[in-house]
Amino acid sequence: MGRIAAACARSGRNPGDVRLVAVSKTMAAERVRELIQAGHLLFGENRVQEALLKIDAVEPGPEWHFIGHLQKNKIRHAIGKFALIHSVDGQEMALVLDRRCRAEGMVQPVLLQVNQAAETTKHGIRPEDLPALAAEVEGCAGLDLQGLMSIPPPEKNPEDSRRWFAGLRTLRDRLGPELGRELPELSMGMSDSYPLAVEEGATLVRVGTALFGSRQV
Ligand SMILES: *Cc1c(COP(=O)(O)O)cnc(C)c1O
Repeated sequence: MGRIAAACARSGRNPGDVRLVAVSKTMAAERVRELIQAGHLLFGENRVQEALLKIDAVEPGPEWHFIGHLQKNKIRHAIGKFALIHSVDGQEMALVLDRRCRAEGMVQPVLLQVNQAAETTKHGIRPEDLPALAAEVEGCAGLDLQGLMSIPPPEKNPEDSRRWFAGLRTLRDRLGPELGRELPELSMGMSDSYPLAVEEGATLVRVGTALFGSRQV
């Protein structure tokens, strides 16, 4: 998408450092196939069952990311299907996922989902609890912590989203030294805000409506 390249140019970033996750939730497999044929190979889904059906329905090749809340009873179905799980949002879920991954002899790349504004309607770890969870996940042999994800509160004026994106970057930048290594990924920005997120350092933007049109459900 040209708007990502333009945002990179404005902020002095390398466009190769930003990946577009096409959020195909609720969209038929046919719509995914159209994008694959146009050369797009990274998709995001927020429900395990729906994702697995779609993954089976389209040709192998694209990378699939899980971006929704992962219920404990769905974890075993999700193992091995997603190149990245954006939404590890608590200790219990992290430990169950870790145990499952180790049992399968695999290492699952993950992000920690941060609930930046401590909204009661949203999943995610509160910023003050992030260091402890990150340290715990870092110690999980079945998980590979790659960075942070956030769904900030909607803002009437999109420009107001910028502070949330900058805030997530700051959290990530502080966490790195605490863990003794850099965390490469920042998953932030959706249809209404992704150019701003790119300007503030996003490495993964999750875009649904702006690519597929509005959802019917
Ligand atoms: C649906 C969804 C998106 C995409 O939202 P749009 O506004 O359609 O771009 C991004 N992230 C998550 C976690 C979602 O559930």
